Amino acid sequence: MEDKYSPMLAPRFAGIPTFMRTPLTGDASQLDIALIGVPYDGATENRPGARHGPREIRNASSMMRSIHHVSKINPYSLCRIGDMGDVPMRSMFDVEAAHRDITAFYRKITDADALPLSAGGDHSITLPILRAMAADGPVGLIQIDAHLDTFDEEMGSKFSHGTPFRRAVEEGLLDPKRVVQIGIRGAVNDEAAWDYSSRSGMRVIFIEEFAELGVEEVAAEVRRIVGKGLVYLSFDIDGLDPAYAPGTGTPEIGGMTSLEAQMLLQRFRGLNLIGADVVEVSPPFDRAGQTALVGATLMYEILCLMAEGLTSK
Ligand code: MN
Ligand code: MN
Repeated sequence: MEDKYSPMLAPRFAGIPTFMRTPLTGDASQLDIALIGVPYDGATENRPGARHGPREIRNASSMMRSIHHVSKINPYSLCRIGDMGDVPMRSMFDVEAAHRDITAFYRKITDADALPLSAGGDHSITLPILRAMAADGPVGLIQIDAHLDTFDEEMGSKFSHGTPFRRAVEEGLLDPKRVVQIGIRGAVNDEAAWDYSSRSGMRVIFIEEFAELGVEEVAAEVRRIVGKGLVYLSFDIDGLDPAYAPGTGTPEIGGMTSLEAQMLLQRFRGLNLIGADVVEVSPPFDRAGQTALVGATLMYEILCLMAEGLTSK
């Protein structure tokens, strides 16, 4: 396919910032991979701000180039990639209604056979995305996060950013035996999420095990668990150490480095990725755009995986 991505013709600092400087379009049928912003943080229980994530990640993504330095993949020469804009948040004061708006938007993407790669938003957004993605049956999940997000409820809500993956299993969107949660750490006040993840059959890799096994063995374990079936990738930026990603609502020290995250993602080539998101980037807590740049770069890493996967099908 002809390379329609010619961003080097324009200076990086000029123009309207779209994700990766791709064309803005409202028509998913023109795309193989749709880049989408979900500016919603109404399900955050502590420090908010992730609603500003998509705008700052778009801005930071102007730093991205096209050819990956390890895989030599150029996603823009492999498939059609564009920015579908932000999900219109018509019901931001009602979490369940906001989630319905998100699902409706992603149905348009799946109906057009495009794969979504999204920037959040708080982690609650992954549940309504999965409602659109897993309409034909449960899928697998690779979750990189400091937190399990499998509580039954938080502050009386079943739909906070600490509950999406428990709801997703209950709703038949995820096969818990094909779920792997990586980078988990931090003390809790309640062991309910630990209990649920292990009882349901999810594979939980605490950060200490990650450090002991190393990137190579963790990647092999991920591939064993998710297999060749459909899999969604959800990257909570707080999976990284706050030294690398301070701009987030629930930081936990002792996390992955940005290089470990990149090297882990680079070992996911060939998986059957149906979509992905990078969530919980909170620009009001960021320093000099550092976390937005990490978020944009992780999106680029994932974009290379998805583009290569599409062309090898
Ligand atoms: Mn999370
Ligand atoms: Mn988290």
